[in-house]
Amino acid sequence: MTEAPAKQALRPRTAVERMHEYHPPLAGREGLRLDFNENTLAPSPRVQAVLRRVAAASLTRYPEREPVERIVADHFRLQPEAVLLTNGVDEALHLACETYLEPDDEVIVVTPTFSMYRLYAEMTGAAVHSVQAKPDLQFPYDDLRAAIGARTRLIMLASPNNPTGAVADSDFLLEIAAAHPQTALLVDEAYIHFHGDSVLAHTAAYENLIVARTFSKAYGLAGLRIGLLATHPQTMRFIRKVSSPYNVNSIALECLPDALADEDYIRWYADQVAQSLALAQQILCRIGVSFYPSHANFVLMRIGTRHRELVEAMRQRGVLVRDRSSDAGCAGCVRITLGTVEHTRAGLAALEASLKEIAWQPNM
Ligand code: PMP
Repeated sequence: MTEAPAKQALRPRTAVERMHEYHPPLAGREGLRLDFNENTLAPSPRVQAVLRRVAAASLTRYPEREPVERIVADHFRLQPEAVLLTNGVDEALHLACETYLEPDDEVIVVTPTFSMYRLYAEMTGAAVHSVQAKPDLQFPYDDLRAAIGARTRLIMLASPNNPTGAVADSDFLLEIAAAHPQTALLVDEAYIHFHGDSVLAHTAAYENLIVARTFSKAYGLAGLRIGLLATHPQTMRFIRKVSSPYNVNSIALECLPDALADEDYIRWYADQVAQSLALAQQILCRIGVSFYPSHANFVLMRIGTRHRELVEAMRQRGVLVRDRSSDAGCAGCVRITLGTVEHTRAGLAALEASLKEIAWQPNM
């Protein structure tokens, strides 16, 4: 019998082989979900009303993104050509990387931060350079300035940042954009509703400034997968080329105008989070848990060596929180999302009871 010829195994691109993996839970998040910084309640009642009347017939058509992009542009006082709707910020990041990065380029991310920046950059084969936050996890202004070089094609950062809650001053961001016109500066404003210092309006003036926004957080629409990119129309021409024409589903498109128009709802939710933040600070101080000052809908707590036991004890009580201990500079840290005051109260009560249960002491 003749042997079958040796088969060449199918191999992915080298960059894909080498890239990090990211494994968020894709099942089983039962309970009070204070682990992913989502809205803990619901989207606006106006959006819920739209969802109740979505016609089955409208699902037979491919989604039409353009009219909604005009509404979104109007809302943010931008030109329609300056806005691209995306399948969440995740896709927005992917598109920016695909548009700008060659394998020899360098990307800067400010760590600790949202994992997807590194992932999408690595996928292109570009080199990712991390600029570490200050020891108190505040934004590393001088280190970032010093890190930008001739090969830096893209800088991706979040303000407010996840998981720290720290912010980068908008004057600084504009200074960087002006000083490095050949570098794209992508500012992820996923948590802007809890802070307010936005650079969105400046995208009309700086061709290399790209802003990402999401409807997954304050708007309560994480399940619809909808976000946007805003940038100068000259820049958007190329990003739009890379995007799939039907990247955003038609239900998200139907909901978006009402989600944007119901500003009272967003104000109400942001106010709930502001009250929750005050409450969390007060309780954490009382029970002796140290934490980082936050400008977002979460707080990063420094628990110490018992971080895993705490997350598990809280899960047993039906409250999910996120262990961030393996993030750079975050040893022993756990992040808790702040939602409505009622949900935050329940989360903090579970935290306090769980710390007692594991016999936690502040110096652990
Ligand atoms: N940006 C940041 C900073 C985030 O923390 C997250 C979610 N954890 C996202 C983007 C994801 O946004 P989306 O759901 O729109 O993909």
